[in-house]
Amino acid sequence: LGGSISRALQRMNNAPTIDEKVLGELINEIARALLQADVDFKVVADMRSNIKKIVNLDDLAAGHNKRKIIQQAVFNELCKMLDAGKPSYTPKKGKPSVTMFVGLQGSCICWVQCSGKTTTCTKYAHYYQKKGWKPALVCADTFRAGAFDQLKQNATKAKIPFYGSYMESDPVKIALEGVERFKEENCDLIIVDTSGRHKQEAALFEEMRQVYEATKPDLVIFVMDSSIGQAAFNQAQAFKQSVSVGAVIVTKMDGHAKGGGALSAVAATKSPIIFIGTGEHMDEFEVFDVKPFVSRLLGMGDWSGFMDKIQDVVPMDQQPELLQKLSEGQFTLRIMYEQFQNLLKMGPIGQVFSMIPGFSSELMPKGHEKESQAKIKRYMTMMDSMTNEELDSTNPKIMTESRMMRIARGAGRPMIEVMDMLDEYKRLAKVWGKMKGLKIPKRGDMSAL
Ligand code: GDP
Ligand code: MG
Repeated sequence: LGGSISRALQRMNNAPTIDEKVLGELINEIARALLQADVDFKVVADMRSNIKKIVNLDDLAAGHNKRKIIQQAVFNELCKMLDAGKPSYTPKKGKPSVTMFVGLQGSCICWVQCSGKTTTCTKYAHYYQKKGWKPALVCADTFRAGAFDQLKQNATKAKIPFYGSYMESDPVKIALEGVERFKEENCDLIIVDTSGRHKQEAALFEEMRQVYEATKPDLVIFVMDSSIGQAAFNQAQAFKQSVSVGAVIVTKMDGHAKGGGALSAVAATKSPIIFIGTGEHMDEFEVFDVKPFVSRLLGMGDWSGFMDKIQDVVPMDQQPELLQKLSEGQFTLRIMYEQFQNLLKMGPIGQVFSMIPGFSSELMPKGHEKESQAKIKRYMTMMDSMTNEELDSTNPKIMTESRMMRIARGAGRPMIEVMDMLDEYKRLAKVWGKMKGLKIPKRGDMSAL
């Protein structure tokens, strides 16, 4: 979804002039992408008329940056679609409340299919615990062997009380026992993790209904993997029909997926997104913020998040120089070499480069740091065999086959690796190039888009 919308915007950007036809095509393409993602027909129709109203080409004087105005209008419309129109239930500190987590899990051979419910339950508990709440975890997943062990491990690590059983096979009974026990213990946030088995869906939804009726949760949270895409609508709707879903959490936002399915989940549940999961670790959990989410969805990069992080890790006096370098946008192999050095050192500057949206998420994906580092070192060895002219050139055409062969020989690596390295260079140069001339926005300011 995000991909097709950003491609449509790109086409509009490349059009020599912006007229009614170009605008009409853009709106049609966006509408088609949204409808394909099962966003409600009426919501899509509203989006159409809103963009047309805001972007009145006749009224826009020449000299107005029409492209930017259109982009901004599309951006705002997507933000609106992610706004469910009503806030979710928020638990009150000191008063007992029950939150039930629902969501599918796949076969668990491929982690991409798991929504990340159990992990998210712990993150949610931990988030409130840090704020002085008394959370507790109940494992009502009696279906998957090992479910209780997993929750127990997570809870123990986070020092959160938990309840579950290896023997009991009735999820309703366990859920109720857990909730009652923790109410007696004056916990103010009782979290019920449930099963998400993929097969026998009808039985799963019936089970959810029973757990829901027994524990009477104040809030039901639908957890979805950011990569499920179009399937999000049906999944979310199916849960919504059996239990009263009131909020959404999107997980694995640290991966490649842009999270377009979230639009469908909001549409299907009429509930807001409240948090996003950004990694496997307990602290990799953020309050949902619509603007960075949409800019990422559109492939514009998470600028506000990036700026926040930059403030955290780089000393103030080093920032202007760094931002200056970024906004120049000229990326040579030598700069890539220096950035590799930074990344490997992972000092403050290295961390910054790893945070540039799209810069190193693919170069050094989480969980694969070791292999990635070895790869980066191999790339650097090859660059050591390059001439100054090659390192400082901004013209990729100078890399002829015979030069590549010479580099491969010099570094004692196969030619294919040299080609790999140059592909990586092209990719990073593109990311870097996007920053050229870009006014680095202040916190939360999206005007640079
Ligand atoms: P469940 O089957 O829905 O309960 O999912 P789990 O909580 O067991 O998670 C399945 C896998 O996804 C585990 O390996 C988690 O560590 C991983 N996971 C969960 N949330 C995130 C996230 O936000 N980012 C990443 N990278 N992994 C996650
Ligand atoms: Mg689980």
